Amino acid sequence: MYLCGPTVYNYAHIGNARPAVVFDLLARLLRRRYKLTFARNLTDVDDKINAAALESGKPIEEITARYIEAYNEDMGALGVQLPDIEPRATQHIDEMIEMISTLIDKGHAYVADGHVLFDVESHPDYGALSRRDLREMIAGARVEVAPYKKAAHDFVLWKPSTPELPGWDSPWGRGRPGWHIECSAMARKHLGITIDIHAGGRDLIFPHHENELAQSRCAHDGAEFARYWVHNGFLSMDSEKMSKSLGNVLLVHDLIKTYPGELIRLALLSAHYKQPLDWSDETLSSARRMLDRLYGAVRGIEVTAAERAAAEPPAKLIAALEDDLNTPKALAEFFALAKSLNKETDPAERQQLAASMFASGDLMGLLRSDPEQWFAGEAEGELTAAEIEDLIEKRNAARAAKDFAAADGFRDQLAAAGVQIEDSADGTNWRRSG
Ligand code: AMP
Ligand code: ZN
Repeated sequence: MYLCGPTVYNYAHIGNARPAVVFDLLARLLRRRYKLTFARNLTDVDDKINAAALESGKPIEEITARYIEAYNEDMGALGVQLPDIEPRATQHIDEMIEMISTLIDKGHAYVADGHVLFDVESHPDYGALSRRDLREMIAGARVEVAPYKKAAHDFVLWKPSTPELPGWDSPWGRGRPGWHIECSAMARKHLGITIDIHAGGRDLIFPHHENELAQSRCAHDGAEFARYWVHNGFLSMDSEKMSKSLGNVLLVHDLIKTYPGELIRLALLSAHYKQPLDWSDETLSSARRMLDRLYGAVRGIEVTAAERAAAEPPAKLIAALEDDLNTPKALAEFFALAKSLNKETDPAERQQLAASMFASGDLMGLLRSDPEQWFAGEAEGELTAAEIEDLIEKRNAARAAKDFAAADGFRDQLAAAGVQIEDSADGTNWRRSG
C-alpha cells in the first residue's frame, strides 16, 4: 500500500491527520490477514518548502528535518504507527531521472526550455481515474499556457533551478523534480510496478493521482499501476473550509496539548472515511463521551497483557471494518460489546469480554490508556478530578467571603482547562467541555 504523505514545511493540521489515521487503521486491519508492505512518502523538495526556507532564513534541510520529526510525533500521539517505509523524495532523485528518461524515450514526454513535460495526449486513457474527458478539458482550458508547453494540461516532470534553489544535475541541466513524478518513482522503487492499494485525500485524485497513474503506466508499457484506489473525504471546520485566511486552521500539535490523542483519533474515525467530516467542539465532546463509555466498561477489570494479546475483537466489528472500513458500524459493535460487558455478572465471562474490548482497542488504536488514568484525566496535562474539586472549593470559599474577583479568577482557571462549572441547589457540578 502506498499513501501520499505530507509536504514537510509546517505542522500538520487536523485535516492532514485524517488520511494518516484512516489509512493507519486500514494498515492494521490488512495486517491481520495479509503480509503488508506500507509506504508513506515524505515530500521534502517542493516550492512551498523553498518559500518557507526563504521566509525564515533557515536552511531547507533544517526545515524539513524539523517538520518530519514533528509529523511523526504528532501522528504518533494519534496512535498512527510508523509505516514500513518512509521514502524521502530527495533520496530518490536518480530513480526519478531514470523514469523521466524512460518516458522521453517512449514518446510520452518532451524537453522544452530546460523543462521536461509529460505529453498528456500521448496517453489516451488520461482522465480515467478522475473521470474527466480530455477533450472537454482542452475546450474548457482558460489557464494561461506557459510558452514551452505543447498543451495546457501537460504537466512538469522536471524543472530548472536557479543557483539559490535546490537542484540536481540531470541530462536536462540542473533542476528539480515535479511533485507527481516523486510518488511514481518511489512507489516503483519500493513496491514494484503494480501496487495493490494507493491511498490519499480526495483532493489528490486530480491532478496528482491522475498524473501518477499516467506516468507509471506509460513508463511500464501500460502495466496496471494500482489495483485499488482509496480516497478519504475532506474535513471542514464548523461547516467551513479550513484555511489560513479564515483563521480556522487547527494544528494537531496544539490540539494534543489539550486533548488525549486517542480522543482526536476516535473523532477522526467517527465518520466513514469517504464521507466529509465536519469538525466542531461537539465532535470532540462526543468522542469524549464515547471513550468514557468504553473505558467505563473495562474499568476495574484486570486483564493481563497475555490475555489481551490472545483475545479477538468481535467478528461483527471485524466484518464492519472489512466492509470498506465502515468505522461507524465498527464503533457501534464496540459499544454493543461494552454494553454486554456492563450487563454481565459472571466474573469469568466479564474477564473474557474485557479482553475482547482491549483486543478491539488494539485493532482500532483505542483504549491505550489505563482506565483509572483516563478518568483521572491525568493524561496529556489535563487537570485531575481532585485538582478540579480543589479549585471549585477555593472559588466557593472566595464567593462566601464576597471576594468575587478571586472567585472569578478560579472559575477562569477552570474554564481555561476546559472545565465548565454550574451551581445548583445541591452544590457546584462540573464537567469537562472537551
Ligand atoms: P498536503 O501536505 O497539503 O499535501 O496534505 C497532506 C494530506 O492531507 C493529503 O493527502 C491531503 O489530501 C490531506 N488533506 C489536506 N487537507 C485536508 C482536509 N481538510 N481534510 C482531509 N484531508 C486533507
Ligand atoms: Zn503522491
